[in-house]
Formats: sequence, structure tokens, C-alpha cells
Amino acid sequence: MLDMFFDPKSVAIIGAAREPGKLGYAVVDNIIKSGFTGPIYPINPNAAEILGRQCYPSILDVPGHVDLAVITVPARIVATVLDQCGQHGVRGVIIITAGFREIGAEGARMERELIGIAHRYDMRLVGPNVLGMIDTVTPINASFAAGMPKKGTISFMSQSGALCTAILDWADAHGIGFARFISIGNKADVNEIDLLQAWQQDQKTDVIIAYLEGITDGQRFIEVARQVTREKPVIALKSGSTGAGARAASSHTGTLAGSARAYDAAFSQCGVIRAMSVQDLFDYSIAFAYQPLLPGDRIAIVTNAGGPGIMGTDAVENYGLKLASLTQETQAYLAAHLPAAANVHNPIDVLGDALADRYGLAVEAALKDPNVDGVLVILTPQVMTQVVESAQAVCDAVERMKGCGKPVLGCWMGQAITAAGAAVLNEHHIPNYQFPERAAAALKAMSTYRKWRERPPVEIPHVAVDHARVKAIFDKARSENRLALGDFEARDVMEAYGLRLPKSVLAKTPDEAVAAAESMGYPVVLKVASPDILHKSDIGAVKVGLADATQVRDAFDIIMYRAGKYMPNADIWGCTVQEMVAKGKEVIIGMSKDPQFGPLLLFGLGGIYVEVLKDVTFRVAPISRMEATEMISEIRSFPLLRGVRGEKPSDLEAAIDALLRVSQLVTDFPEIVELDVNPLMIHEHGAVAVDMRIILK
Ligand code: ADP
Ligand code: MG
Repeated sequence: MLDMFFDPKSVAIIGAAREPGKLGYAVVDNIIKSGFTGPIYPINPNAAEILGRQCYPSILDVPGHVDLAVITVPARIVATVLDQCGQHGVRGVIIITAGFREIGAEGARMERELIGIAHRYDMRLVGPNVLGMIDTVTPINASFAAGMPKKGTISFMSQSGALCTAILDWADAHGIGFARFISIGNKADVNEIDLLQAWQQDQKTDVIIAYLEGITDGQRFIEVARQVTREKPVIALKSGSTGAGARAASSHTGTLAGSARAYDAAFSQCGVIRAMSVQDLFDYSIAFAYQPLLPGDRIAIVTNAGGPGIMGTDAVENYGLKLASLTQETQAYLAAHLPAAANVHNPIDVLGDALADRYGLAVEAALKDPNVDGVLVILTPQVMTQVVESAQAVCDAVERMKGCGKPVLGCWMGQAITAAGAAVLNEHHIPNYQFPERAAAALKAMSTYRKWRERPPVEIPHVAVDHARVKAIFDKARSENRLALGDFEARDVMEAYGLRLPKSVLAKTPDEAVAAAESMGYPVVLKVASPDILHKSDIGAVKVGLADATQVRDAFDIIMYRAGKYMPNADIWGCTVQEMVAKGKEVIIGMSKDPQFGPLLLFGLGGIYVEVLKDVTFRVAPISRMEATEMISEIRSFPLLRGVRGEKPSDLEAAIDALLRVSQLVTDFPEIVELDVNPLMIHEHGAVAVDMRIILK
């Protein structure tokens, strides 16, 4: 897939230039210098040759077939030359030229024109507005970046071309190589999803990393990434995800959601490892690219200093990994071979005067220990320390233990003195980190990924529901020009999807309210029935625990008075008389629409304090039973649901069931833009949806 980019047989540069310093010159120069072996056709109507290659006035004049064309001409003539590419049978085009969608409406129109042309001729298109593409496998450097990176097994896609240049420079300084490296710019055609699919199949790519500013189709991204991450790790850095979700929302869920939450949820649901910085991106990717996957969470630390050993221990534990307890045999072996003052428990302290041999010995012993899953080696440059030799000794130990399936990460702390040792580690594909915390973070990423791979594939459950009834309710609301469904209509929707509800009757007068209460039995709850009032208790329009007819009448009057006073224009239908639900744990289930990923489900500790406590978690719908279970168990107050201080545990199965039903509802009806069930009252047996609202598009 996408072989026209990653395995082109011939290439043309449209807009090739004669003058060094020009973009169209840099691209030709790069392609030649990268060692590309196929024909190279510079296109320029005013030149006979460029860099010793014969020039053609247009692509239509090129005598042979062209797989890949790189376009650098000014924006206004890109469409013309693209059409010529189509006529000539070009299969893939990289449009480096900027000045399209990113500059506004006119640019967007021009970009759509390009997409139309590409479709007409069945050409794939990268860009516009890109740095280009580098492929060390083919090899070809079809970009205007300076120089060719080293060969490697990491493939990188970036929505920012400028970031690409910085990363190439940084990777070069650290000896990190790439397989494929591509800037995807405006993503008019080829996007992150195409590349994930192409690189899933790519034998030369072991690790996929991505810098993304936005995702083209969130639901599809999740679907595809779920497959890809089963085979190889995908690490993504997503920028610009704060604030984007901030907007006026008319539900609890809408207020609490946001784009950063959506990305976190989505990435976790498809096994994509999220990097929070460029640093993370590379810290994680070298660990994955160089070392076997961490088979378990038990880490051994080898160090020549106490302090850094403790820092390493703290970092390992803070990331939820465990410090391995070494076997008796390992401890005895270390005691016999290290000085008496050395610590033979984990962290293994080989002492400040350790020479290279102690490092080799300790690392090998740790790798042999069946209680150890991975090793973190820390070195601080003390007076006698052999910075380079110790690195070499670690590499030799790893070589002797080849095939043990356990990762070794280095931490040569410092810079000026330790860099030479770090270089040796790097050469032998032992990732090195300047600080133990960063190494621990990389181990954590490996652990998270392993756990993802061990999970069963995602399965979305389907339960029998009354779809037609919901459709009828929505149609009716729409026909009356109402998009906000208050408790009274929303409860019918929930009932159709199988949630349990308290008995509830709409009363227009105090007499009707009393009659309803008597037939239901005291105590009851009264609350205002109005599609316009969002948070009823905020205006004192919810009265619980009403024990007799007098209290019901009083409550009715006061609720109507307050509702009228606080919202004179509200459409008020009367009061809902509701069965008093037994006290339980109040949780919230909600949904708001995320612009990238669609329905974003929320679960959390609920009731009227939900926005204060913010103890909530998110997933993109639809969710699996396992995801529903995880949502419930990952909120901070989960212990409360399990029961503390002699309390009976809440019925978590009932909460899971309710979550899955809401997930199915918002998936079946994309026209629901916001939904709150708050509270869902969970009891020892069962759960009851007490209050809910739905907003339609
Ligand atoms: P709103 O969220 O609009 O303020 P609710 O209907 O959720 O109104 O009521 C607010 C709170 O009152 C709930 O969180 C719950 O604690 C309590 N409550 C409401 N209805 C009932 C009921 N039927 N049984 C028991 N408690 C209720
Ligand atoms: Mg409520």
C-alpha cells in the first residue's frame, strides 16, 4: 500500500530549480544524494539540465513512466501541473507548495480542486503544504530537509513540516534512524489512517510514531489503530488539545468533557501510546525500537550510587511498576562477586568505585533472575568510573543474554563526561536516558503496551431495545420544534433502552399531585417538569421526602412559584410526582459530542456535586463490556462504590449494564448531541435512573 511513495521506481520534480538555495533545487539535490537508483526527471521549461540531469519542459514531455511526482511550483499553477501528472499516468504526488486550506476560504477551494483532480486520475496525493518524504529503505529523500537520516525501524508521520526538520536534526545528534519519514501537511488525501494501514504491512517498520494536530475521522482512526497496535506499537504526540473543547454546554457532561479528554480516551481505547512531548515521543520510540517488550512489571536496578538508585526506585514505583525481589541464588551470586559493602538486594548497588566488570556482572545476573522482567542500569560519573568501558560491559552482558526477552535501558546520568558512554549504548541499541525518571517512563509505556496486547480484542455488545419508540419520541419533539428533552420525555427514551426508572406521574395541579402521590404511596418527590429548566435543584425546584398530602400541596405551590420567578419564560408543564428512590450511590452517566471522535461517554461520581468533584472518566462510544468495567473502576471514588466502613457494595454489574445501554443509545441515534443521566442511583441490587435529559441536534 502507498508503494508509489515508499517504493517508487521513477520520480519527477515539477518546479526543479537551477539556483542553490531554492526549494526546487534542494529537492533535486536531495533525491540525487539519497542514492535513489531510478530515473530522476527535473521539470522546468526554462532549463536544459539541473545538477547534471536532463530537464523537461513539462511532465508530458518525459519519455518514461513516472511513479512519483514532487510539486514545488507556486500555488496558482499547482492544479494545472497536477492535471498533467494525471494525464501522464503518475501514481503518487507530493505537493510541497503551501498556500491552500491553511490560508483560508480561497485556499480551501483550491485544495478541493486538487482533490478532485487526484480522484479523477486515481492518483494518491501527499500534502499540500509539506516538507516532503524521506525513505531510507528505497532509498529516496523527496524533501527539502537537510540531509538523510540514518537507517532505522521507526517510521514517523508529522502534520508539521517544521517540526520534521527539528526532529531530523535531533535524531541525527542521537544516532536515531528512521525507515520512513513523511510530512502530511494539510492531509488533502493521504492521512494518518492511510499511513497506519500502510505501515502495519510494512516489514521495515517496527515502531510507528506520529505528530498530529487533528484527526481526520476519529471513529475510523480508533477502528484502524486497534488493528495496527495489535502488531506494532503506535506512539502519538497530539498538540493543541487544551481548550478546544471549551464551549457553552447545556449539560454536566458537556461542561466536563473537552478535546484533551477525548484524545486520552480514544488513544487508550485503541492502544495508541500517548506522548506528552517530543521528548516522550523519542524516549518511548527508542525503547520499543531497540529492545524486546517488557514481559512483566518487575524491574531490577543496577547503580553505582545510592541516591540515583533511590530516584530510580521511586520513579519505577510511581509509574506503577514493581521493584523486583531477587532470588536467593542471585543475591548469593552477587554477594560472592561484589565487594562486601555492595547492596545485593534491588536496587543492586555496585558502589562508587565500580569499574566496568561489576556492571557486566550485575546486569547479567539480573537478566538471568527469573524474578526480573527488565533492567534499568544507572551510571553516575564518579572519580574512578569507566564511562565507556562500563557501557561496553553492559552491551556485552546483553549480548551474552541475547534471546532472554527482557529489555535493558541505560541511564548514563550527566552529559559532558557521560555522552561517550551513551553513544556506545546507543550503537548497540540499548536506549539511554539522561535521568532515571525518563527511563522509568519508557518502561511504563512498554508495560502499558504489553497489557494492551494481552487484552482480548474489543467486542461491542448489543442488547434488545425498543428502537422505534425512541425514534417516535424524537420525531415528536422535533415536530414541535423542541430539541431539549426534559426528564419527562428523556425517561421514556431510557425506558425504551431498558434502564430502570422510578414511578413518575406528571401533575398539572396540586390535586393531581396529591392523587398521584396517594396512588404511588408516600414518601414522594416533587420536581418541576419543564424542558427549559436544566438544573432543577439549583432553583429549589426539587423537594424530596414528602410524607403527606399537605407537604405535597405546599411543595407544588413553592416549586411553581420558584420556577415562575426564576424562569418567567420557561415552558412549565407542572410538577413530576416521583416515587422516592432508596438512598444509594449517586453516579452520572453522560455523553457529549466530540468534534473529532463523536460520542464521548462519561461516567463519574454524580448528583448535584458532579461539577465540583470532577471525579469522572471518559470513553468514545460504542464501548465494550471491558471498557465499561474499567470506566467504573478508574474513578477516584471507586472504593466508595465497592463499599467502605461496613457499607454494602453497590451493584456494579447494574452500573455496567446502564453504561452499555447508554453507549448503544448514543451510537444508534447520532442526532443525540448531549445526554445526562444524573443521578443514576446504584443500590446493593440494581440501579435506578432518577433524572435525565437529552439534547438533539
Ligand atoms: P436536578 O439535577 O435538575 O437538580 P434531580 O432530579 O437530579 O434534579 O434532583 C436532584 C437531587 O435530588 C438528586 O441528585 C437526588 O439526590 C435527589 N432526588 C431527585 N429525585 C429523587 C427521587 N425520585 N428519589 C430520591 N432522591 C431524588
Ligand atoms: Mg440531576
